[in-house]
Amino acid sequence: PVGGRVIEVGGEAPYAITVGQGLLHDGDRIAHALRGRHALLVSDSHVAPLYAQIVEQALHAARPDLVLARWVMPAGEQYKTLVQYGACLDALAQLGATRDACVIALGGGVVGDLAGFAAASWMRGIDCVQLPTTLLAMVDSSVGGKTAVDLPQGKNLVGAFHPPRAVIADTTALHTLPDRELRAGLAEVAKYGAIFDRQFLAWLERHSRDLLARDDAAMAEAIARSCEFKADVVSRDPYERGHRALLNFGHTFGHAIEAEQGYAGVGRDALNHGEAVAVGMVLAARLSTLLGLAPAEDATALESLLATLGLPVRLPERLAPAALLARMYLDKKADAQGLRFVLWGGAGEGRVVAGVPDDAVLAVLRTP
Ligand code: NAD
Ligand code: ZN
Repeated sequence: PVGGRVIEVGGEAPYAITVGQGLLHDGDRIAHALRGRHALLVSDSHVAPLYAQIVEQALHAARPDLVLARWVMPAGEQYKTLVQYGACLDALAQLGATRDACVIALGGGVVGDLAGFAAASWMRGIDCVQLPTTLLAMVDSSVGGKTAVDLPQGKNLVGAFHPPRAVIADTTALHTLPDRELRAGLAEVAKYGAIFDRQFLAWLERHSRDLLARDDAAMAEAIARSCEFKADVVSRDPYERGHRALLNFGHTFGHAIEAEQGYAGVGRDALNHGEAVAVGMVLAARLSTLLGLAPAEDATALESLLATLGLPVRLPERLAPAALLARMYLDKKADAQGLRFVLWGGAGEGRVVAGVPDDAVLAVLRTP
């Protein structure tokens, strides 16, 4: 294992994010975050066969007295449910987990959200260590303390704010990630550049080949930079009351696209979250240009970067503009004057804009 880069997240319960190559083998580092004798390793059916044993062996070597159990959920968003959450609590009960026990979440955002919520609620809150294995989880879901499960009525309807005790991201785990999942994560990485730092967008453009090839050094840099941006935002706005809203750049359009396709049981040509956000960011950039907030060249450059990263940049034709607009109103992003969007004043300058007229939104949705 190599040292890794460390990013501190401030706030009431500060913690560190470590990013580097081979960190899942670093038993001392993971064990350092454990306070008691009990830990539950939570993973899913894709990730556990790949990485659970590595973590268990590393932990046993570092802490021979540790009572460590493994609980594995089926992989997929459709299992981020109350039923699986209940099964995870059963595993904690069976382990005899006390107040000083720790949940170790090894997987993508689904595992992280569900395990994090189990940790948030078991005995009113025990520690959780996040070992994210998807790019999205490394740059987004494992940082910031939001945990949740879905209900049939909607995504993330039950959850809690519960910051992790540590986040440890091993870039080598990304070597086994399916291509589409990797690109979805890159959309969120590009989002940070779009709202906070035009230099970072230029860096991504220059390193797009390395990133798509999963070069560990390039990946570590992209993840560490992304985590710095997210850490800064969540330190200032831990409960999402204001500033953190900037992170929704591309997401109002993106959520409408996802909802209109239907969250579950969609065909293979449906966009995943990152892909929908990529299209959403292009639409947000174009809307900014239309409203006279930002130069057209910046929208074009963002579009070209996203395309280089293998992401879609055009609205699928089968999605009707009026239906998408209706979805955005249902998403409660509207007030009396019109819809509220995270737009930009040009690359690197995200800003919240309220009262966006429907005509402008429809015009952007209709542009081929
Ligand atoms: P995911 O957890 O479903 O992982 C995607 C797929 O990749 C799964 O099939 C998983 O088993 C597999 N996988 C994971 N790591 C792998 C690896 N290293 N090698 C091979 N396969 C691997 O999806 P995700 O995109 O990581 O997370 C999406 C979830 O995150 C959603 O439920 C979303 O609501 C949530 N989320 C939460 C936050 C937050 O702040 N808490 C933020 C963004 C997203
Ligand atoms: Zn997102």
